[in-house]
Amino acid sequence: MIIDYHIHTKYSDGNCSHRDIVNLAIDQGVSEIGFTDHYGIYPNDWTASEEALPALVEEVLSLKEEFKDRISILLGLEVDYYPEKEEETKVILSKYPFDYLMGSIHFVDGDNFDSDPKHPIYEKYSIDTLYEKYYDTLIKAINSGMFTTMSHLDLIKKYNYVSSKDLSELYYKIARLLVDKDIMVEYNTSGYSRPCKDFFPSDEITSILIKEGVKFTIGSDTHTQDHLLRNYAMAKERLKKLGLKNIYRYGGKAPISIDTFMSK
Ligand SMILES: [Zn+2]
Ligand SMILES: [Zn+2]
Repeated sequence: MIIDYHIHTKYSDGNCSHRDIVNLAIDQGVSEIGFTDHYGIYPNDWTASEEALPALVEEVLSLKEEFKDRISILLGLEVDYYPEKEEETKVILSKYPFDYLMGSIHFVDGDNFDSDPKHPIYEKYSIDTLYEKYYDTLIKAINSGMFTTMSHLDLIKKYNYVSSKDLSELYYKIARLLVDKDIMVEYNTSGYSRPCKDFFPSDEITSILIKEGVKFTIGSDTHTQDHLLRNYAMAKERLKKLGLKNIYRYGGKAPISIDTFMSK
């Protein structure tokens, strides 16, 4: 079975329509997809605005119905977590019937660190401090209870800026928190196509999460047609090697065993 739970469209920074993606996914034998455009309470040019949410939701729900015999379509959202806007964000999102919400940290101290490797934030803070701030925010996001899944858990490594510290204790703490809150982690296969050339999360973090019993979903972080299922074959091999047994689905559906994942 093939699934892809991380897909952007023209409603945020993707360049495909929802319908284009649905047709593409059917052609590629995908059983279930989830649309996850960006939303953040502070507007910017790569997120869907609050005003756009009703049309976005309507679009997904109508395609879900239209294609129900051919593919399962889920309504998700990739939500920027801002600690100071937790309650307001919860109220806005509670108006819609999302199948799942993915929590993302793209901002530290209001700076979008993953938009540019030369972003001034990389001068403002040492990499160690930046990692600390990033993971502090991530822990707050997990504790907020707003999210079904955390996406690209170690995005802070995107441009290959690496902490000089041993962070394994921190990763164990995050793993235990995720289990405690029953929040899943997305194995985000886009990372392999980024400057870090590594999946999100890394092998080190993934091993710790698996050991602690964290549940994994999977997504390609599609922004263009050729991104759907990107790096999936390699991801499957990697996950098998790391000892993952199952890939989890939303809505309480039975997980897919890693051996049958990707088989049509
Ligand atoms: Zn993201
Ligand atoms: Zn994304």
